[in-house]
Amino acid sequence: MFEVAWHEQPWPEVVRRLRTDFKKGLSSREAEKRLRDGLNKIDQEKRGSPLKKFIGQFTDTMVLVLLAATVVSGLLGEMVDAVTILAIVIVNAVLGFIQEYRAERSLEVIKKMSSPVATVIRDGRKQKIMAEKLVPGDVVVLETGDRVPADLRLIETYSLEIEESALTGESVPVNKTADVILPVNIPLAEMANRAFMGTVVTRGRGKGVVVATGMKTVMGEIAFMMKVSRPEPTPLQAKLDQLGNTLIVLCIGVCIFVSILGIVRGEPPLSMFMAGVSLAVAAIPEGLPAVVTVVLALGVQRMARRNAVVRKLSAVETLGCTTIICSDKTGTLTQNQMTVKRIATWEQEATITGEGYSLEGRFMAGQRVLDALANNAVSLLIKCAYHCNHAEIDLENREQVLYGDPTEGALLVMALKAGYKGSRDVVREVPFDSERKLMTVVVAGDNGFRVYVKGALDVLLDRCSRIARQAGTAVLTDEVRKRFLGLQQEWAQEAYRVLAFAYKDLSEAELEVSDDAALENDLILLGVGGMVDPPRPQARTSVSRCLRAGIIPVMITGDYPATALAVAKSVGITTKEQVIAGSEIDQLTDKELVNCAETVRVFARVSPQHKFRIVKALKKAGHVVAMTGDGVNDAPAVKEADIGIAMGINGTEITKEASCMVLADDDFSTIEAAVHEGRAIYDNIRKFVRYLLGCNVGEVLTMFLAAVLGMPLPLLPIQILWVNLVTDGLPAMALGVEPPEPGVMKRKPRPKNESLFARGLGLGILGRGLFISLTTLVIFTVGIVCGKLAGQVDLALARTMAFTYLVAAQLFYVLECRSEQFTPFEIGFFGNKFLIAAILSSAMLQGLAVYSHRLQPVFDTVPLCPWQWLMILGLAGSKMCYQAVKTVFSRKLLLYENYAKIRA
Ligand code: ATP
Repeated sequence: MFEVAWHEQPWPEVVRRLRTDFKKGLSSREAEKRLRDGLNKIDQEKRGSPLKKFIGQFTDTMVLVLLAATVVSGLLGEMVDAVTILAIVIVNAVLGFIQEYRAERSLEVIKKMSSPVATVIRDGRKQKIMAEKLVPGDVVVLETGDRVPADLRLIETYSLEIEESALTGESVPVNKTADVILPVNIPLAEMANRAFMGTVVTRGRGKGVVVATGMKTVMGEIAFMMKVSRPEPTPLQAKLDQLGNTLIVLCIGVCIFVSILGIVRGEPPLSMFMAGVSLAVAAIPEGLPAVVTVVLALGVQRMARRNAVVRKLSAVETLGCTTIICSDKTGTLTQNQMTVKRIATWEQEATITGEGYSLEGRFMAGQRVLDALANNAVSLLIKCAYHCNHAEIDLENREQVLYGDPTEGALLVMALKAGYKGSRDVVREVPFDSERKLMTVVVAGDNGFRVYVKGALDVLLDRCSRIARQAGTAVLTDEVRKRFLGLQQEWAQEAYRVLAFAYKDLSEAELEVSDDAALENDLILLGVGGMVDPPRPQARTSVSRCLRAGIIPVMITGDYPATALAVAKSVGITTKEQVIAGSEIDQLTDKELVNCAETVRVFARVSPQHKFRIVKALKKAGHVVAMTGDGVNDAPAVKEADIGIAMGINGTEITKEASCMVLADDDFSTIEAAVHEGRAIYDNIRKFVRYLLGCNVGEVLTMFLAAVLGMPLPLLPIQILWVNLVTDGLPAMALGVEPPEPGVMKRKPRPKNESLFARGLGLGILGRGLFISLTTLVIFTVGIVCGKLAGQVDLALARTMAFTYLVAAQLFYVLECRSEQFTPFEIGFFGNKFLIAAILSSAMLQGLAVYSHRLQPVFDTVPLCPWQWLMILGLAGSKMCYQAVKTVFSRKLLLYENYAKIRA
């Protein structure tokens, strides 16, 4: 299976053969050169060529029928008709093609935005790059929660465990070690010194050198794993597809009825057949799914500009229904710019000056500068903070960029402020995990080994038996415990994040017999550190906007209750003194949790399992839940939520994969912005559905009622197709990009199962359709009378009037469809420049159809006189005139009310 058995060679040999440096990695230049051999991705199914797609437009059954009808009318000598219909069909196909092409392109952009990243060492620096840019020889850093980005030969491992079910079907994680050399012929599942593309790091960390990329990886060879998944239709798209099918049946029924009735009444069969087919083509909203996709996709791009990267299109719809946002604290509501401000050992308290990750700052004991490294316990605490730490600070960069966990970054900065430096080589490690709330490393000491542990104070206290003193150690008494717990409570109330530190020394023999649990027992407590993490400046505003929009923000954090409550109050999530801790959740039944979850706004000290239970409880209570997550263990809760949200900066790859949306900036305000966009996009979908269906119902009813009332055909087949062309395409698309209406975030969330036609939309569409059809018939009748009075024998004038009226009525209607709450006089006419352009071009095209000498014979039109225009435009705009009067009147009323109020 493998070209080279990399697992059979010691890793320095692998590094040598791949001409790389295990410390510095490849140089960017070399990596670029190697990239010429191919990107690190599994080849995708070839996309259909644009030409194929264009031809695909003609395979639609209705279009085929129309084409057949065109051929028939051509054969019967109606050449002008045949050519025109053909031209219209082609233009329609072009429009359809453009819509579909745009939809596909936008979906591709979305896919790109959420493509995986990998951490590599290049040019001697740790950096994040797109996983597809990896090349053989790259040194990749693996952390818990990463998806392995290529096939690797491991060169460094710390408690590394990888779940390889994607390849082996075995879901129990496998231990990995870099230092073994394995026989050539062993099964994949036993290759302990290798990591394979697509598998997941469930614990620990490590480094590996890339030995194969893209299709050369094991995953690439078993390419069936990665069959390109077509994006699933969103619930709304599926519903619209269904609706489309129902409408097709209905329209065809009406068209057959209209045709037969006409033939029975003595109209020429061919013209009735053509009218029936044209009507069906015009009335069936075949473009609806494509427009929905384009609108959703464009919305997604708008969201991306506001830092919300949507991974699943369906999230856009669900966002508008969100009733609860469960948010992490650290980094989402706070800035994740931590600074250690104070420390305390048994005998020494100190404050630390300086802000952010800047290295300028000093340790102060009251007004006195403290030589931190001269104090035994303080110095050990600083060493613990430094060694039990993976963060790195790029000191060459003036911005002081931090790589790694911000909590650890703050601790590193503290140690550097104290002037401590040293090798950070680790002999053994028990990685941090939010369940244990601890992290442990073993480093080589002067006489043997030293274990450093840091983590939550309450957890650590249970594992310590002694306390470090200025000189030596002492037994950890209840008094000591009480003092530190009191200190933590005090600091937490001031929104400090508190971390505790401990250590112990071990001989080599002791280390050898200690398992992970033993390592973290019988420790010597060093003291605590308190760090600040200021709330994000926007958080308070966003929380209050959510509350106004009927969305409840809830904080779910691993931090202490007092810290959580202090932060929650400062951003306005709660005003009550109520917080529920993870341990209390354990005591609740699912039913009790449902009751509690609806009233409590702050959950603290929770583990990922608690998060999962909370999401389930809230969903059970009927809420639509958005839930944020970052760590690998958060993935189940994020997946369970209606809207799973992952952190772009601090989130693990696995959580990102489980999510519907990724916050590029980890900011709570971005969720609020995404909800805002989500609501606006859904509004827009309702707008163009209202418009498209209103128009189509109008067209079908016009023909249907005329047939029932025994009137002649009010529109010729070509005219029907033309109306469809000039009114359906551009104006509907333009409605899809309407800017959000005012007050989008002032109304309650939309119920999840609400039909698209709820809140009067269905009736509104039918009503408007009926209105358009009846008024068209009135205009048509007036046209017949006018024609008769003028001594004309044919129906050219009446049809021109009905034809033009139908276009005008729809162009006025599109302006009304811009908002369901406000009239155009309230929101203004010029807010959507695409719509104005679309209306103007449609009106111009209609003008051409009526006045161009070349087109008059094609459309069988005659010029209209001013009073006929007046009548057409007056009736078409009558609803709007009525709205104008109403607006002016209600404004006056409002003024009067205000006046009355002032007088009172
Ligand atoms: P949030 O859930 O809002 O992100 P959090 O970061 O406090 O908040 P976790 O990451 O689950 O939540 O951490 C839980 C606890 O574990 C923290 O309160 C802290 O006491 C401890 N802790 C956090 N990071 C580390 C770390 N790198 N090493 C050791 N202990 C840590």
